[in-house]
Amino acid sequence: MLEYQAAKDLLKDKTILVTGAGDGIGRAAALAYAEHGATVILLGKTVKKLEAVYDEIEQAGYPTPAIVPLDLKGATEQNYQDMAETIEQQFGHLDGLLHNASLLGVLGPFEHISMDSVKEVLQVNLVAEIMMTKALLPVMKKAPSASILFTSSSVGRQGRAFWGEYAISKFATEGMMQSLAHEYEGSNLRVNSINPGATRTKMRANAYPAENPQDLKTPEAIMTTYLYLMGDDAKGVTGQQFNAQ
Ligand code: NDP
Repeated sequence: MLEYQAAKDLLKDKTILVTGAGDGIGRAAALAYAEHGATVILLGKTVKKLEAVYDEIEQAGYPTPAIVPLDLKGATEQNYQDMAETIEQQFGHLDGLLHNASLLGVLGPFEHISMDSVKEVLQVNLVAEIMMTKALLPVMKKAPSASILFTSSSVGRQGRAFWGEYAISKFATEGMMQSLAHEYEGSNLRVNSINPGATRTKMRANAYPAENPQDLKTPEAIMTTYLYLMGDDAKGVTGQQFNAQ
């Protein structure tokens, strides 16, 4: 785990978009970013969950966030372009983008992979990230110092039996991170990936139903790396794979 202490105002005056901000790790990241001074754009599928995070941020007295309800499964390039335009109008630029929302898909033998399921996993975990990143790059290039953070997994770095659909999507995410980082080397934009490691969320419980969640770190306990990479202390750090634990 990274030895780092984020300053209270690390993200002051920054605007940061978090996907899957209503639950699990995305929710914790949205709250941590807001606590450190950022205006957070909460993007997700279930509006009720986003509203609950919005209320928590407001009640804590952090900068007022924004909500973008979007189902990554069905969103089109036009939806992302419209979102980029709205962000530019409201905030001028975007300082941070945390690609966090993902689907686990179905675990099982490769021979049994359902093409419907694999297409859905690749749409949410990969194609949506491509479209969103493409649409937001112009507005991120306008930021004085910008950070894109992709969420990987241990199976995004080493394949594992029965994890085909999800592992393929995470390997592709790592490839996108590296290609983008290389393309923007020497610019104001850094691009990195984080593997959160085993964390107490719904996705983890679905993947490992026999495990005791109490044995796992909470999302709040793994935020150090998420904060470090979003803030300007990580200026110049790009193209790297991080582990949050
Ligand atoms: P959760 O399942 O708890 O949360 C996933 C989030 O993604 C939810 O907010 C969910 O929204 C959102 N989401 C899912 N599908 C869509 C969609 N179609 N459109 C918009 N939003 C969507 O997962 P975690 O918090 O555990 O995972 C966060 C990230 O960390 C993922 O990328 C995951 O792969 C990765 N990861 C997690 C690990 C763990 O141990 N927890 C380990 C390794 C990697 P809603 O609730 O509305 O459906």
